Amino acid sequence: MHLVPSSSGAICFLINEIVWHTVNSMFTVLAGLVGFFLFLLGSCIGSFLLVIADRYISHENPFLGRSKCDYCNKQLVWYELIPYISFLIQRGRCSSCKKKLSAHYPLYEALCGVFAVVFLQQAVLLGQGIFLASAMFLVACVLLILIRIDLLLMLLPDGFIWVLIAVSCGIAGIAHAPFSDIAFGLLAGVGFLYVLWAGTGGAGIGFGDVKLMIPFGILFGFRGTVTLLFLAFFIGGIVGILLLSTKKAGAKTAIPFGPFLAIAAFAIMLIPDLPHRFFQLLGVE
Ligand SMILES: [Zn+2]
Repeated sequence: MHLVPSSSGAICFLINEIVWHTVNSMFTVLAGLVGFFLFLLGSCIGSFLLVIADRYISHENPFLGRSKCDYCNKQLVWYELIPYISFLIQRGRCSSCKKKLSAHYPLYEALCGVFAVVFLQQAVLLGQGIFLASAMFLVACVLLILIRIDLLLMLLPDGFIWVLIAVSCGIAGIAHAPFSDIAFGLLAGVGFLYVLWAGTGGAGIGFGDVKLMIPFGILFGFRGTVTLLFLAFFIGGIVGILLLSTKKAGAKTAIPFGPFLAIAAFAIMLIPDLPHRFFQLLGVE
């Protein structure tokens, strides 16, 4: 004798399936909405990071006064402050003087939006916790500010590096990072760049780059720091060759190294197992 499901059993099964699929779809839609909202929030923060960097350069308070055009000082109206929309409405040019707006605006907004989504996703999927995700986001924000300042002034101000050191210590504490790993990370990162800085008489890299390796050593440990340095020199090399071949830079043009270190740090923050994969590639693991 074999069992034939009764009609009420089949109906129950059908209702269960429908409820399960509905709840599942609702969660997917909800996760999508949360992700979209986070991306927009991150984009607004990205836009503000450029204001902080530019006001630092012009010695102004980032929290006071309205935003202005970099060229003609025209005060921006409210819709010219909305991420992406403002760039599209103005077709990438100032509505008053028609000068090209910096491509940094949409780039910073998009990057910061991506960081907000990815770090929260890592917090949920890897069980890292919201504090760790927020601290990582803060590190990314300070690095974005430093990239802008270094590109324009060839300078990595100590104040921002101190913030990075403080947040990195907090992250290492929350993540229970082994002290020996941090010590070797600092030795590899700060030590290597210090030798390079001293050996070239400061011609190749600046002392700010050496100091920037302190928070990176604390954050990424030995393997992370070695991977970061490799990536930074690799990306820097490619950009250098591109600038030379397109005649946008000469053999004696000084190119800030801080942005390459920051971009390499972004790669490791977005792909946490990158150092592991890099050491596997080297055949060390
Ligand atoms: Zn203008």
